[in-house]
Amino acid sequence: MRFAQVIVDVPVRQTDRPFDYEIPAHLSEMIEIGSRVSVPFGNRLLQGFVVGMSQVATYTSASYKAIEQVLDLKPALNRELVHVAEWLSHTYICKRIVALQAMVPAALKAKYERGLFLLSEDVPPGLDEVGLQIWNLIRHKEGISKERLLMEVDEAAYYLKQWMKQGLLEERQAIKHRTQVKKQLFVKPAVNQHDLFAAIEDLPKNASQQKKIAHYFLTNPGPIALADLLSELGGTSSTVRALEERQLVSVFEQEVGRDPYANRTFKASQAMKMTDEQQVACDTITQAISMEQSETFLLRGVTGSGKTEVYLQAIEHCLQLGKQAIVLVPEISLTPQMVERFKSRFGDLVAVLHSRLSAGERLDEWRKIVNNQVKVAIGARSAVFAPFEQLGLIIIDEEHETSYKQEESPKYHARDVAIERARHHQATVVLGTATPSLESYAAVQDRTFTLLEMDQRVFKQEMPSVEIVDMREELAAGNRSMFSRPLHQAIEDRLTKSEQSILLLNRRGHSTFVMCRSCGYTVLCPHCEIAMTYHRQTQLLRCHYCGHADREPKQCPSCSSAHIRYFGTGTQRVEEQLMQQFPGIRVIRMDVDTTSTKGAHEQLLTRFRNKEADVLLGTQMVAKGLDFPDVTLVGVIAADTVLHLPDFRASERTFQLLTQVAGRAGRHTLPGEVVIQTYHPEHYSLTFAKNHDFNGFAEKELDLRAKLNYPPYCKLILVTFSHVRSPIAMQAAQQFIDVFRTQLGGEPITILGPVAAPIAKIKDRYRIQCLIKYRDELTVLNGVQEAWLEIEKKTESIDLSIQIDVDPQMLL
Ligand code: ADP
Ligand code: ZN
Ligand code: ZN
Repeated sequence: MRFAQVIVDVPVRQTDRPFDYEIPAHLSEMIEIGSRVSVPFGNRLLQGFVVGMSQVATYTSASYKAIEQVLDLKPALNRELVHVAEWLSHTYICKRIVALQAMVPAALKAKYERGLFLLSEDVPPGLDEVGLQIWNLIRHKEGISKERLLMEVDEAAYYLKQWMKQGLLEERQAIKHRTQVKKQLFVKPAVNQHDLFAAIEDLPKNASQQKKIAHYFLTNPGPIALADLLSELGGTSSTVRALEERQLVSVFEQEVGRDPYANRTFKASQAMKMTDEQQVACDTITQAISMEQSETFLLRGVTGSGKTEVYLQAIEHCLQLGKQAIVLVPEISLTPQMVERFKSRFGDLVAVLHSRLSAGERLDEWRKIVNNQVKVAIGARSAVFAPFEQLGLIIIDEEHETSYKQEESPKYHARDVAIERARHHQATVVLGTATPSLESYAAVQDRTFTLLEMDQRVFKQEMPSVEIVDMREELAAGNRSMFSRPLHQAIEDRLTKSEQSILLLNRRGHSTFVMCRSCGYTVLCPHCEIAMTYHRQTQLLRCHYCGHADREPKQCPSCSSAHIRYFGTGTQRVEEQLMQQFPGIRVIRMDVDTTSTKGAHEQLLTRFRNKEADVLLGTQMVAKGLDFPDVTLVGVIAADTVLHLPDFRASERTFQLLTQVAGRAGRHTLPGEVVIQTYHPEHYSLTFAKNHDFNGFAEKELDLRAKLNYPPYCKLILVTFSHVRSPIAMQAAQQFIDVFRTQLGGEPITILGPVAAPIAKIKDRYRIQCLIKYRDELTVLNGVQEAWLEIEKKTESIDLSIQIDVDPQMLL
């Protein structure tokens, strides 16, 4: 092979294709498809990925440059992953290099720096002692920066100038291999996007730097190093401190240790004797793994039905066949208890990948996979790219979770990537959950997926009894407290019996929907049947799908009550009220504020497990996956908060959340009770949750989706245009739609918008969006791609950004 086709690290569309490079003889043994290499590009040296190899050059050009270096002993990716990258870039309309880089740990992403390189092997004649010292230094530390060298040797400047003039030395861009820092300060948002969005409006007018940073976190919810944040956005650490004082961000120090589980010993566990339901599910899965038919199973098992044991025994079977397995769990469920269940069964054969690890730790875990030291990878979303060669099984636990969709480019869904990878490997996919996404449920109906059901809890416990409390009646009866009489009674009851309770509150601060406290009336868009969002600046209600605007009502249009108001309370206030109403009660509050430091989440759970508290109060994080024997009461303070998100999936999310949280009660010997407080006791997502009736819910919801033409009955692409001037973004959006329509040649495709996005302005840029509803994938994806190219060309000179989200999970 003389040539390699390389995708180069330049995220510009014109270069989003493979380039031919010659393979130098001395590297020919090492270069494979999937290798990370450094190549000259223009006058720079850049990182790239080898995606093809050939005897003759594929792309005609006069002269070829040669690959400079191979960056890893073993290729970072393999042939299959290179295919998947190509599929990703097409399916999610993103650049190839972005897709490839998403598959490797961040620590392997190239960083570039100018450095010094000798151009001659021979020491120049007549060099004095100091000169020789400098010459050797550069030889040993190839690529050392000029500044660094000048710091080490004062006299270096003179020699460098000489040698450059004589053509013995050059300074050029080089790839810097990231080194690990021991400890670093990080910043992350301390509130959710909605609260942050609302808080930005409250910041003083002159606090522009604070606003800028807050805006940054609207779109980048993950932690970022303080130094990186400041160098990207400007400002000083006092700006960040000010935001910290307002409790909008939290600053924390991240330790760098290498094996995160090094000091932990895991008790070995044996396969349990499975229940009949578990056995049937497990047998079906293991048979599919053996048959290599690349089948996808939807394992719908009620909370407490023992799905994990099924996963464990299926993996065991997979390993016996000499194959490997990937287990994806939501970031939030990736607790030490969860990891322990796998480590105690498979010991050192397990690699754990998640974002709370430092870059170095992550890299180490990932290398174990590349080097074939482990057979099982367990991790959050991106672990779906674990570079195994003989994949037999991919498990996605809590498959309905939105965190499986990546919100930045490549905006992939781990479920779809898993299925694509399984196709290449003839591997089996298992999607486990108590509350399947409607997409997966519909795939069962059209026989793309195979359904496996487990309707019994392991110890045959009853599902918890669920009471729905109408908060309108509470108000009518003169109870203005946030706890209804039944919930109050139930908490008191637990205190006397010294059993534990979990209270769920979805904190949405200045929550943005408008609801009547007397009758529960909520303002919906007359065109979209989606809760309208209140904008404080304009005092208008707006539909974020179609743009319809309306005045805020002064009294309830339905019952004329004046108790119409913006809904929302925080966890902190609930905690205060608990203390007031139940003197001596011990509460553990779990929300973004109390879990921002490393290990805090785990610590709080351990304390609760040790019965150091009566109540665990928190946001969604208390709803998922927890298994405490003494929890017999689950209370939901306000079920309506999710119900009124401006999102067509609001009912689905509500049903899922209620079912999940209810599943925390009475999992062992003691029976469980659930109290759900709401202003919409008649809403079907609540009544079906009360009866633990997923199928009933799914039928009803699918029916509605079909009527309103939403997924799974159509596909969506969200296109967002942003510019500092709103009319320019609007014009680009309009042009995009025109070009797109022409591309389609009159096919009937629905396009909603262009309208202002729900978050209408980020980082001083106005955001305009349109939503494409379609069925036939290929023509539309190509059409979007073409229209994107054309608008990008047209707008080259202006700083317009276009974001494309295929199958969006959030419509912000
Ligand atoms: P799910 O994920 O379906 O909600 P889990 O996998 O957490 O349920 O299982 C619930 C509990 O039942 C766990 O404590 C688990 O160890 C236990 N368990 C599961 N299967 C068995 C079994 N076959 N025999 C005994 N205990 C089991
Ligand atoms: Zn009313
Ligand atoms: Zn509307």
